[in-house]
Amino acid sequence: MTDTAHETWMMWLRDAHAMEAQAETMLNAQIGRLETYPAIRMRMEQHLRETTAQRDALSRLLETHGDSASAIKDTMGKLMAAGQGLSGVFAADEVMKGSLASYTFEHMEIASYRMLIAGAQELGMTDAVAVLEPILQQEIAMADWLSENLAPLTRSFLARADSDLQAKR
Ligand code: MG
Ligand code: FE
Repeated sequence: MTDTAHETWMMWLRDAHAMEAQAETMLNAQIGRLETYPAIRMRMEQHLRETTAQRDALSRLLETHGDSASAIKDTMGKLMAAGQGLSGVFAADEVMKGSLASYTFEHMEIASYRMLIAGAQELGMTDAVAVLEPILQQEIAMADWLSENLAPLTRSFLARADSDLQAKR
């Protein structure tokens, strides 16, 4: 494999690191607003802990493969600032809009890790495969949970919508 292939893979890894930082921002915003859906809230809290560990694992992987710690921190700072604008929009059905966004996001993560794993295998980076494969499994588990819970959540939301002003959260 060429240096260009490796540099392209590194760019995907940086993108994944930025994606996990964005996931933390999104999950934090959703957890803060989920007042009357304890099951979703608990699952999101679990995935937030996983997400923070994923971001740390990707940081270490970036450093192992040549990125400096200060360059990684710099990207993070920019993202945190950009993420703050995301949490300001609240729809009447925000729990459903949030679930839609989460479902989409988890599938983007799954695709990203499948690319990174295939690339790492092609480039002979077995250390990276060992880090990325468990992360992929966590994303699949979260996507499956959301998939299974979307229909019950929708029914619960609609049942509450007429009588309960808190349904949206
Ligand atoms: Mg993730
Ligand atoms: Fe995720």
